[in-house]
Amino acid sequence: MGVTPLPTRLTQVLTNSDEDATTGGKRMDHEQFMRVALEEAQRAADEGNVGVGSVVVRDGDVVACGRNLVPVTHDPTAHAETVALRNASEVLGTDDMNGYSLYTTFEPCPMCCGALMNANIGSVILGGRPDPDQTRWDGYTMECLLEMCGWSDRMEVVTDVLFEECMSIRQP
Ligand SMILES: [Zn+2]
Repeated sequence: MGVTPLPTRLTQVLTNSDEDATTGGKRMDHEQFMRVALEEAQRAADEGNVGVGSVVVRDGDVVACGRNLVPVTHDPTAHAETVALRNASEVLGTDDMNGYSLYTTFEPCPMCCGALMNANIGSVILGGRPDPDQTRWDGYTMECLLEMCGWSDRMEVVTDVLFEECMSIRQP
């Protein structure tokens, strides 16, 4: 994993739900939610979309899911992360997700990173991320954009959760 610690709110949830809320316990928790995102990614791939899935989590519960729908909807903004945010907003009745976490099987693109900032998502947990030689976005990383926007202290980024599984679903 990359950056720690978890936000206070999530740490409290983990402490309450897992007496051994050590770093290993947190990682196990991250993997549990990433597996839900992987199920979404598989659905996307099965439907002929890019195999990326995302879930929004609050207080240890999945509140909404999203998967890539670009090819079937011809909507260039229908990335897994934006779809998950839209679904979460609808379920929660708010566009302010301060303190929420988003799990996603592949590093959010610049558009989605902007959407995550607009939603005040508190932490983003990544599965896969592109090889620097193969990305469409040159020197972009989530961390770079957050830094450029003065957002680094407002959004935690955790990396490398179930990396291999996430990469193989996106690029079978
Ligand atoms: Zn995106």
